[in-house]
Amino acid sequence: MQTQPVRNNFPCVPRSVRRALAVNRSLTLLDVIVVGAGPAGNIAAHRLSQLGYKVAVLDWRVNIGEKLCTGIVGRACVERYPPDQADIYRDAQSATVIAPSGKSHEIFNERPQAYIINRVAFVASLARRASEAGASYILGENVVEVQRTDSGVSVHTSSVAGARRYQARVIVIATGFGSPVLRMVGLDDGGSAEYMVGCQTEVVADRLEGTEVYLGETVAPGSFGWLVPLSDSRALAGLVSRHKLNGHMPRFLYSLKQAGKVRSVIKEPKRWGIPIKPLRRTFGDRVLVVGDAAGFVKPTTGGGIYYALLSGEIAADSVNSAFVADDFTAGGLKRYESEWKAVLGRELRIGYYARRMYEALGDDQVECLVNQLLSSRIQQEFMSAREFSFDWHSGLILKAMGHRELGKLIRSLGPMVAAFLPRLGWPVTAQQRVESEVPTGQASVPGGPFL
Ligand SMILES: Cc1cc2nc3c(=O)[nH]c(=O)nc-3n(C[C@H](O)[C@H](O)[C@H](O)COP(=O)(O)OP(=O)(O)OC[C@H]3O[C@@H](n4cnc5c(N)ncnc54)[C@H](O)[C@@H]3O)c2cc1C
Repeated sequence: MQTQPVRNNFPCVPRSVRRALAVNRSLTLLDVIVVGAGPAGNIAAHRLSQLGYKVAVLDWRVNIGEKLCTGIVGRACVERYPPDQADIYRDAQSATVIAPSGKSHEIFNERPQAYIINRVAFVASLARRASEAGASYILGENVVEVQRTDSGVSVHTSSVAGARRYQARVIVIATGFGSPVLRMVGLDDGGSAEYMVGCQTEVVADRLEGTEVYLGETVAPGSFGWLVPLSDSRALAGLVSRHKLNGHMPRFLYSLKQAGKVRSVIKEPKRWGIPIKPLRRTFGDRVLVVGDAAGFVKPTTGGGIYYALLSGEIAADSVNSAFVADDFTAGGLKRYESEWKAVLGRELRIGYYARRMYEALGDDQVECLVNQLLSSRIQQEFMSAREFSFDWHSGLILKAMGHRELGKLIRSLGPMVAAFLPRLGWPVTAQQRVESEVPTGQASVPGGPFL
């Protein structure tokens, strides 16, 4: 089989980096096509190239990594996928949570738990490493059709230069949120996909000392807003919610200006989706889905960079096994799903139900919960707990549920909250049912089937 020549084209990447991205015009049949040069696609391409496979990464963007994102990653992510030091804006050892009433709570940890990174530079550096390992990058081309046969995969693209076709043995879909490419391989969940909308802009905020997290219905229903410093004067202001953010962002920015936190807004706010539930199926004949496209995001906060990277690596190993066994059928690639579930399944499930539970709270209940959870005594207990992690939330959620005072408070928050308790492995006893006035039988309804 013959494919079109494959080009690397990094017009928005500095010349020094471009030089490192060696041009490879001699590719014929590829082993693997990765669609999407975000964190998930780049890491999969890197690993597969290191293993000796002929890999091409396709992306319609020309500036790799330039997707709406705040760029906060946790310690575990930074330790496993170290960014270049120059790409770390700052670490986050503390944060301020502003409750719906406006009351501030400081959170502090002895060691930095999170890092604010230059996401575009970080993702571009992942691409550079993949390219140095042999992956070819084809930028500015939009994947418009995918055909799978018994012998391979044909990927059709369109771009200003016209239509092209590439062929490979297997395809990894790393196209991020809401991608039509999933439909092309019959793996989209149609109208049943659950997601939040994130809205963010860059602002001048010259008196900001650290990250601020804003809670409450008027800021972001069932979720939160943020102000994240990038430098002494620049910051990112944003909101995320499952609700339609009608007028929330202008109101949020106005209130930040009124409070003297933000001096001016530099850019128009942009919006993008964040999945909160994994796809029902993430593999098929000659295809695997990774990262946001597969719904691998922390449902609690919407952070997805780390899980995108982890899933990209897991997918690369599954593709490798498929090559070894020469079996690219759904049966041969199925192990990918059991492997990502072993790593991410519990986090996605518990995080999802914890989010649903949080979304059921009114402002008064959030206030009450935050007052107790962030009191210095309980904060200390949780920060020093073995389960504390910016990247893995299920341990902490379950610890809170089992905590003598917090657990009691959570279980007293009313029927909407109590209804999620069994989903978090916390049986609703007859006593609690009476206390929270949950009609029998209602407790197991919300949330629907998860995986
Ligand atoms: C407002 C906001 C703030 C966020 N902040 C954080 C944060 O602080 N920390 C965090 O961890 N996560 C954050 N996230 C989530 C994070 O950005 C994603 O989880 C992460 O980027 C997912 O990586 P990915 O590789 O799966 O997909 P993406 O990074 O979305 O990359 C997908 C790539 O596929 C390409 N593509 C799509 N369709 C096609 C096609 N048809 N043909 C060719 N190319 C295609 C796109 O151009 C893109 O480059 C945030 C999200 C939003 C919306």
